[in-house]
Amino acid sequence: MAENTRILFKSRPTGWVDASHFEIAKGPVAEPASNEVLIRNIFMSLDPYMRGRMREQKSYTPGFELGQVLQAGAVGEVIVSNDASLAVGDLVEGRLGWETYSVAKATNVNKVDGNVGSLSHYLGVLGMPSMTAWVGLRNIGQPKPGETVYVSAASGAVGQVAGQIAKMQGCHVAGSAGSDAKVAYIRDELGFDTAFNYQTVASLGDALAQACPKGIDVYFENVGGAMLDAVLLKVNPYARIVACGMISQYNLEKPEGVKNLGTIVGNKVKMQGFIVSDHMDLKAEFMAEMSGWLATGKVKYREDITQGIENAPSAFIGMLKGKNFGKKIVRIAAE
Ligand code: NDP
Repeated sequence: MAENTRILFKSRPTGWVDASHFEIAKGPVAEPASNEVLIRNIFMSLDPYMRGRMREQKSYTPGFELGQVLQAGAVGEVIVSNDASLAVGDLVEGRLGWETYSVAKATNVNKVDGNVGSLSHYLGVLGMPSMTAWVGLRNIGQPKPGETVYVSAASGAVGQVAGQIAKMQGCHVAGSAGSDAKVAYIRDELGFDTAFNYQTVASLGDALAQACPKGIDVYFENVGGAMLDAVLLKVNPYARIVACGMISQYNLEKPEGVKNLGTIVGNKVKMQGFIVSDHMDLKAEFMAEMSGWLATGKVKYREDITQGIENAPSAFIGMLKGKNFGKKIVRIAAE
């Protein structure tokens, strides 16, 4: 009889997350009820938004419950089906658990095609993070040829796609990341025009001035804090700030203030937040466009895969500290 290894949410962090906030539990595999399926999880996604779900306060997604298995986007194989819409052997993705086997309602998972290179793509380049980049630029950034687009956390799951889309749209694309290897990747492999290591530059303002000599027309905001403040001093008239995320603030007990917001008034800057899950009506359009770009090599995508469900907590903690290089994924089982 197979055993289910699960990662439970043990205690609520107030600052940085550490291993004490997780518990590894082993137990029997649950049996699916009518209209449910049992899934053998193969890959699961680790994402910064999960840090928000560890808070007590209300967020745009419900918080994780203490003592319960953590949730994650995952892909896996149906091994028992009590629903006519899914058969044993079907590959599916959905919001499942940090666990080796999940039971889900058949209506809560989507069948996927196994011929996309790797099933992990459904968690990255053909999944939520890549769609976030696509939607944010399509609906808010709306870059025009010749404009300057600046992307922070540019080697990450969202950032690497945002920069490549902006490049295809004829923009001058600048990016920043937290290591020299990440900087080399976005510039030399993804084709960003210029990039810098925000951890080692003497001044963010000078680095931005050098990377974006004509100022910034679109800022794809992934980090917030000091970076946002520095960008606000470089925005052009009618710039758009795509407020996608602010990871630099997620583990702070007290968020930092932003000092330079005044520049958006005279420059008539539009700054707009968005949540990708509100835009699922665009999913088919996104999938068609992104699969084409992936197949023709117009979009490249780097994944950072950790082996084994028991290593998910340390991989998650590492991602929040910038230790991931590309989309953070956990391999739970062989395909
Ligand atoms: P990444 O793959 O980019 O991983 C997180 C990265 O953030 C780290 O690797 C690190 O890269 C960077 N980072 C961590 N701490 C800091 C810091 N203090 N200052 C600057 N950079 C930091 O994650 P994603 O691409 O999945 O997510 C990027 C952003 O997009 C996040 O803010 C996330 O919350 C947001 N998001 C929003 C969605 C939406 O619907 N609005 C959906 C999905 C994601 P480095 O080494 O370069 O510092």
